[in-house]
Amino acid sequence: MILDYFQRQVLYPCYYCQHQHFKHDILSYADGRMLCKDCAKHIIVSRENLQVVAQWVLKQIEDLGLKFTRGHTYVSLVSKEKMISLGFDQAEGLATNIIATDMFFKNKHLNAQIYVIYGMPTANLVWVLSHEIGHVLVSQHQYQFNTQEAEEGFCQLIALLVSQKSQNPLMPRVLYKEFNNPDPVYGDELRKAYEAYKQQGFSNYFRAFI
Ligand SMILES: [Zn+2]
Ligand SMILES: [Zn+2]
Repeated sequence: MILDYFQRQVLYPCYYCQHQHFKHDILSYADGRMLCKDCAKHIIVSRENLQVVAQWVLKQIEDLGLKFTRGHTYVSLVSKEKMISLGFDQAEGLATNIIATDMFFKNKHLNAQIYVIYGMPTANLVWVLSHEIGHVLVSQHQYQFNTQEAEEGFCQLIALLVSQKSQNPLMPRVLYKEFNNPDPVYGDELRKAYEAYKQQGFSNYFRAFI
């Protein structure tokens, strides 16, 4: 009896906002993701809604003063199984850049495909899309970073700056989750990039590698 009582009191963290909820307030996808009721209200499952969010994110990136070449980047929703089959078990988003080398052996960005996982809430999608568009931007301009981790930090910073402009009610949870992420790449590099950006200001931070 006691065991049963405690089992019913178990809290589960929402996959997307990490708030703890009782089992009856949690919705589960077949792939194992568990979402709270709040996040479930905002999930993106249609191409039209994906496009609306993508256009909004692009506008914020351009407002930051970054030059993104439109018209050569395709965005699509994929299942978690598809992401795993592409070799990215944990990824919520993925950007594949197609590069050509010209006769002077100079790399040139041709186009890009961004995949994002089907069924994530809008606030998370804003973060993930901004991050992946960051990778496309890096490829379009052939920005050079010292390490792959530093590029991840840059893309996380873009995601942070764009997400801070969002009025989505769940965005504070996403900002908290990302800024406190213990991951040595996605968390530490974000905090590092954000410190540098705050100390140097936007244009100096970007001038360091642009
Ligand atoms: Zn949630
Ligand atoms: Zn990345």
